[in-house]
Amino acid sequence: MRCKVAVIGGGIAGSSAALYLASKGIEVELFEKKRFLVEGPPMCHLHAGGNLYREISINQCIQLLKESIDLIKLYPHAIDKRPTVIATPVYDEDNPQNQIKKLEILKNEYKKLIELDQSNKVLGEPENYYKVYKKEDLERIKKGEIKDENDKWIIPFVENVDLEKIKYPVLLVQEYGLNVFRISAMANLMLNRMKNVKLHLNTEVIKTEKKDNKFIITYKENGKIYKKKFDYVINAAGFESGKIDDDLGYKRERFVEFKAAYVTKWDKVDKNWPEIIFHGVRGTPQGMGQFTPYYGGYVQLHAMSKDITLFNDGLVKTKDSSQPKLPQKYINYIEKNWDEESVKDRTLKAIKHLNQFIPKFNSKEYFKPLFGAQQIPGNDETLRAAEVSFEEDYARCEIVKASSVFAMSEEILKKLKNCDKHPEILPKITKEEVDKFAIEIATKRGYPKEMGMVNNPYKSKENL
Ligand SMILES: Cc1cc2nc3c(=O)[nH]c(=O)nc-3n(C[C@H](O)[C@H](O)[C@H](O)COP(=O)(O)OP(=O)(O)OC[C@H]3O[C@@H](n4cnc5c(N)ncnc54)[C@H](O)[C@@H]3O)c2cc1C
Repeated sequence: MRCKVAVIGGGIAGSSAALYLASKGIEVELFEKKRFLVEGPPMCHLHAGGNLYREISINQCIQLLKESIDLIKLYPHAIDKRPTVIATPVYDEDNPQNQIKKLEILKNEYKKLIELDQSNKVLGEPENYYKVYKKEDLERIKKGEIKDENDKWIIPFVENVDLEKIKYPVLLVQEYGLNVFRISAMANLMLNRMKNVKLHLNTEVIKTEKKDNKFIITYKENGKIYKKKFDYVINAAGFESGKIDDDLGYKRERFVEFKAAYVTKWDKVDKNWPEIIFHGVRGTPQGMGQFTPYYGGYVQLHAMSKDITLFNDGLVKTKDSSQPKLPQKYINYIEKNWDEESVKDRTLKAIKHLNQFIPKFNSKEYFKPLFGAQQIPGNDETLRAAEVSFEEDYARCEIVKASSVFAMSEEILKKLKNCDKHPEILPKITKEEVDKFAIEIATKRGYPKEMGMVNNPYKSKENL
């Protein structure tokens, strides 16, 4: 049977679904209202093991580990291959020893995944998946006694973090960076080259209806209104997915959350820096702090408190419609602009939060934040590993973390088993092409061009 499949929304979910389905031989048409694919909310952590979330179950962590491995294989040039150092502040109630049990399970799961398929070995040797540092280990490194590659990544940590402000041990884990501008570049470059994909950028879907077992999509492209019939619809509209559910009369519970990460610059930061995490309880003034190094000395900061990354009225839930209503000011931030005073205020607060652990980190510069809204399906706002749900001939992408796109796409393909298939090989994209396009995307989106680069490019055989 010849199937006409529409994907509404070209974020990482819609773009990856289109890539995966097209590679398996399904013809897809992708509608994205913005000028680039993957121009929505940011992503900077791979979450290969969910190690930033103390509160989630081990099953979710294992799922995130497996899904992240698949994501690296699909978007190798978007990965900044540097580990993450996780520290627990003295004021925090948790004992860092509690995290080691989880890490040991994850290490063994990683080992099993490699035994199953050698190409899964994308996070280095399983023995190095994590390493535990006692205070005396940090003091040894401070004296210049380096024993292995992992120790080298600890150098900026011991030289800059106040070692009296944290509990021991400190953990190092192979949790890499994910560069949103490079994912965007890869998705745009690959989809543009696939014969099975028709891309409609700058195109807004205005209405979705179902009549006589066919979906009718009304869309606006280049100022003109068109209608087209499809056999199958993939709703990948991110935080606006509820609008399409509403159009079709499907009831679905979900949260929508608006969040932001801030960008500054610090000339001490270079390619030898790991990401640094200071744990904390989400939503309190001591929420987790994240210090994420970028190329060229740029740094992205999260602090999971309500006056920095989170917002008092930023988490909303469905009521009578499937689309939660986010306060209009956040929609304006997303669609128009965010006022400079508030950006400056929150960036400086983020710097202050990290400065309590990194005393010399005192930057004053602020740039456009990385921000947006995302959905969390169902009733549990702490859910981090979610993929997709279905109605008849209709898939609803519900990822919370970028890494879930592969598992999501596999589930969608199963529903299209009766469609004719003409498999296509995924186009090969070079690192140089990604560098060039990611810089252009970052610049056009109002970010420093350096943010389109990575400090430690992933050396992959597949997508060179
Ligand atoms: C501050 C912040 C930090 C984050 N950090 C991370 C991280 O480190 N790692 C991670 O994995 N995740 C992270 N996330 C979550 C991640 O951004 C989201 O999970 C992910 O972007 C969701 O992708 P999506 O494709 O489902 O939705 P989106 O990226 O929102 O894509 C939906 C697309 O649909 C388009 N669209 C909507 N309606 C229509 C329509 N009617 N017609 C045409 N197009 C339409 C939109 O323009 C948009 O491009 C973060 C989120 C935020 C807010």
